[in-house]
Amino acid sequence: NFEVSHALDWVNRINEKIQDNKGELTSLDQAIGDGDHGINMSRGFQEAVNKISGEDYSDVSGVWKDIATTLMSKVGGASGPLYGTVFLKMSTAVKGVENIDSQTFSSALKEAVSGIKQRGKAEAGEKTMLDVWEPLADKMSEVQDFDRQLILDTARSSMESTKDLVATKGRAAYLKERSKGHIDPGAMSSYYVFEALADCIK
Ligand code: ADP
Ligand code: MG
Ligand code: MG
Repeated sequence: NFEVSHALDWVNRINEKIQDNKGELTSLDQAIGDGDHGINMSRGFQEAVNKISGEDYSDVSGVWKDIATTLMSKVGGASGPLYGTVFLKMSTAVKGVENIDSQTFSSALKEAVSGIKQRGKAEAGEKTMLDVWEPLADKMSEVQDFDRQLILDTARSSMESTKDLVATKGRAAYLKERSKGHIDPGAMSSYYVFEALADCIK
């Protein structure tokens, strides 16, 4: 089951990966956006880690809520509100749930996916972070237990699949056909989020 210790470990690991790959996220966003995704994500997750490290949590919902409000208030651009929504929806989905098993976790991911769709007015195939979150939520709901390899494989293949898509949401949409041939920055940061998840459930 996914406990408070896992939730804390998860965000710490996300932050490490984001800091380590800040330059790469910046380059991807320089290619098809405005070049700030590395900065946005590194600031946001560093602030989130700072926030949670001083607190005492009785449930996962509380951890995710603090991450959500931190991301929403500290990160500008599209990704702050979108990642904030993700953690807020997950927080609400598990509120009051004693044992968060993989089924509960995947239903929380589905709520996160609806949140991205609402907030970003996005749908699958528009070359955004949604193209990683949706397949992850779907795949995880098809299996009974946390499956580390499934998470890694799904995250990697869906992130890579954004390369051949034409962007129709976000800044990359201005490039139309020229957005093809580049991985979406938000899909890449989402990949790190799930790589971090796989690392903390092994
Ligand atoms: P900004 O584009 O405002 O500079 P970032 O560079 O931090 O913000 O984040 C860009 C990422 O946000 C994109 O790569 C994409 O994955 C995601 N994104 C942007 N707009 C949307 C949207 N409408 N719906 C879903 N995701 C989006
Ligand atoms: Mg940007
Ligand atoms: Mg920007």
